[in-house]
Amino acid sequence: MGKVISIALPKGGVGKTTTVVNLAASLAVAEKRVLIIDLDPSGSAGIALGFSEDERMPGIFDIFSYTHSVEQCTRSTELDYLHFLPMNFLSPVAEERLHRMSNNKMLLYHLLLPMKERYDYILIDCPPYAIGLANVALVASDSVLIPAKSGHLTVEAIDKLYEHLDWLRRFTNRHVQTEGILLTMHEPNTKVDTLIDGDLREQFNGKILNTVIPKNSTLSESSYHGKPVILYNANAKGAIAYLALANEIMNKNGTS
Ligand code: ATP
Ligand code: MG
Repeated sequence: MGKVISIALPKGGVGKTTTVVNLAASLAVAEKRVLIIDLDPSGSAGIALGFSEDERMPGIFDIFSYTHSVEQCTRSTELDYLHFLPMNFLSPVAEERLHRMSNNKMLLYHLLLPMKERYDYILIDCPPYAIGLANVALVASDSVLIPAKSGHLTVEAIDKLYEHLDWLRRFTNRHVQTEGILLTMHEPNTKVDTLIDGDLREQFNGKILNTVIPKNSTLSESSYHGKPVILYNANAKGAIAYLALANEIMNKNGTS
């Protein structure tokens, strides 16, 4: 039975999409069957995987509108073991409709039940808030991986997410766990990173993953070229770090 992991934090630009794409590709290289679901209306995961606006149709919007099936919208990628369910390129009217649809918190949960048989990992890229589509993702998830940008004030956002998860456990999804907090864009030996990461480690003791993702411009470059970093420059520090993260996640989940 596959595991559904949302990559989420109610804060922008912390490395959610970069983590979804590169963790998924690293798991796929290890021959785990992986599906990425893009639930962010910005469609960034599709862009980072090299899908044009046209190539992102049909997508999640069509599935939630019941005009297309999950199978009709699932794409293959350059990696045999990696599939992708894109977010459509949305007009403002369609985006507004999608937000209204997300009032139904169970929208994704039922769709994912049969898919857990087909994939080892289903990773969901969430928008940078905890309501609406992010909530739809969290309700459908077994766990949440929380990227925290190193040296940035993410403690409040993490607290907010933990509070939200407590609420979800009480009322909607009592099984949802945390996969761990992932420090991203880390710059070793800078004073601010050392100070703030120290605070995070003190406050969230035991919840921070061993793997730390360094700041590495090759990660941005590979997104620009529409490729996971492992297919762009497998020797880059970022590629090596995301392979280590995949190993840590597989070990935690007993699937290595
Ligand atoms: P949003 O909340 O807007 O969806 P996000 O949390 O998904 O943002 P990303 O889009 O993954 O964040 O990353 C934000 C920016 O930082 C992007 O330009 C990305 O290329 C860059 N970036 C992400 N991780 C790293 C890294 N480890 N080193 C250098 N740049 C990075
Ligand atoms: Mg993103």
